[in-house]
Amino acid sequence: MRVMKRQIDSSNPRHINESGFDPILLASAMENAACEDQARLYATFSISPNFGGSVKAHSIGCNLQCGFCWSPCRSCKEINTVSSHPNKVARVFSEVFGQNGTRAGVELNEILNVPAALNEMKPRLYQPEEVVDKMIMTLADRKIEGIGSFELCTEGSPPKTIRYFAISGGEPTIGRHHLLSVIRCFAERNLPQRFLLQTNGFLLGADSTYLEALSVFIDCLELRISLKAGNPKGLRTRTGAFEASFEYPFRAIEQAISLGFSFHLAAMSDSAVMPGEEREELFERLSAICLQYDRHLESMESYYHRVHGMPKHNDRSSLVLIDEETYVPVYPKILAEVLDS
Ligand code: SF4
Repeated sequence: MRVMKRQIDSSNPRHINESGFDPILLASAMENAACEDQARLYATFSISPNFGGSVKAHSIGCNLQCGFCWSPCRSCKEINTVSSHPNKVARVFSEVFGQNGTRAGVELNEILNVPAALNEMKPRLYQPEEVVDKMIMTLADRKIEGIGSFELCTEGSPPKTIRYFAISGGEPTIGRHHLLSVIRCFAERNLPQRFLLQTNGFLLGADSTYLEALSVFIDCLELRISLKAGNPKGLRTRTGAFEASFEYPFRAIEQAISLGFSFHLAAMSDSAVMPGEEREELFERLSAICLQYDRHLESMESYYHRVHGMPKHNDRSSLVLIDEETYVPVYPKILAEVLDS
C-alpha cells in the first residue's frame, strides 16, 4: 500500500540527501556491502548500443545518489524493490513511453517484456575472471538481458560490431582490487575490444595511486569520466555529495592527461538537469584545465561532425572530447514511483 506519494519532478525525481555526505566514505560502505575478497556483486550482463556498441556488466553499488539516476543498481535493496513490482514497473513504463510516443509505430510489448527483464536481474557475487568470461559469453551469444533490454527502448538495437567491454549500473571504481583484477584478466585475453572504464571520477581523484595502478593497462583501457555538476552547490543538490568533494573528478582529469590515458568526458549538462549558468562554469573550468595541458575542449557532437565519421584518420591528441548526455527521465520516474511503494 502506498504510504506517501513523492512529488515527481523531472530534474530530480529520486531522493537526495540534502545535508551532504562524503562520497569516499560512502564508497567504503558500498565496498563492504557489494564486495567480498576479490568478488563483487553484479545484477546482469548484456549487449548494449552504448558507446558505439558495448558489452556491459551491470555492477551494484554507487558512491553518489544522483537525483536523475536511471540505474536500479545503486543497491540490492533497490533491485529487489523494483523486481518485486513487475506489473507496476510495466504500467509506469508503458505510461511514460506512451506519453512520449517513443519508438514510433512499435508497441512497447514488442520491444520489451518488462517482467521478464526484471526477472533477469539477479544479484550475485562474481570473481574477476567470471566477470570477463560472462562478458565474453554474452558477446558471443549477443544476449540482451535485464537492464540491457530497457536500453532498447531509448537507444535502439546494438550495432553489429561491439567496441567496448564496460562496467555499468553502479560505480566500477568501488572495490579497487576487484576492478584491477577484472581489467588485468581482460588484458590477458587479448581481445579486439577495449575496456571502457566509465566512472564518476571521485575515487580516482581522491587517491592518485588509483590511476597510477590503472596506467599499467593503458594500452587496452579508455576512461570516460562523467561530470555531474559545474559548481560545489550543484554537486550537493544534484548528487547528495558534500561540496568539499567537488574537486575530485577534476583532479582525476588532470592526472589522466598527465599519465597519457585515452579518455573522454561526459557531462549531465542537459538543461532539464543543469542550469545554463552552471553549465558555463563547468565548461570554463574544463577549458582552463585543457589550456594548462595544451589541449582544446571540443564537444563529441562537433568533433564527429567535423571529421565526417572518419575519426580514425584524425589526431585527437590535442583534444579533450566531451559528450553532453541527454537526460531521459523515464527510468528515474519509474524508480521513484516504485521505490515509493
Ligand atoms: S554516479 Fe551514476 S550510477 Fe551513481 S548515482 Fe549518479 S547517475 Fe547513478
